[in-house]
Amino acid sequence: MSGLENYRVLVARVDEMCATTATKFAAHLACRPGCDACCRHLTIFAVEAAALRRALEELPPSQQEQIRELAKVSTAHGRCPLLHDGLCLLYEARPIICRTHGLPLLVKRGDDSEIDFCPENFAGVESIPGSAVIDLERLNALLAAINALYLKGCPGPERITMAQALSE
Ligand code: SF4
Repeated sequence: MSGLENYRVLVARVDEMCATTATKFAAHLACRPGCDACCRHLTIFAVEAAALRRALEELPPSQQEQIRELAKVSTAHGRCPLLHDGLCLLYEARPIICRTHGLPLLVKRGDDSEIDFCPENFAGVESIPGSAVIDLERLNALLAAINALYLKGCPGPERITMAQALSE
């Protein structure tokens, strides 16, 4: 399997887990179109950039041009260049971190780990089951391994900004 295919398998697994949590806690999630505070200008792995570019190239030329223009005028710590009118212009191809936004993540802080999620979500929920928590370190390790495999076939930098990914 190529690096890009491995990445797609990982995306499908993450989507499945996120969908299960979203269904179970539907009444306690504030995530919705237009709620876009998470959509900052990120750096992404090369394999994620390749998947984004594939999706970009499948759009009609005028939409491709619109996205490339947004990428050109984006700033390093500003909004994501794909965010337009509160929506993601390449939603189906968005990177892994975007798929987990707002949901419970196990995050390492020094020697400790804690469960982090959007403060708008899970109001009134007393406890979150382990099955709904994504181990961010493990996920990133898997993604880094898939990226390393991808880079063997397509050498380049390990990570690039979203704007670079959309401009190449
Ligand atoms: S790729 Fe889409 S979902 Fe991810 S930060 Fe950008 S606009 Fe938001």
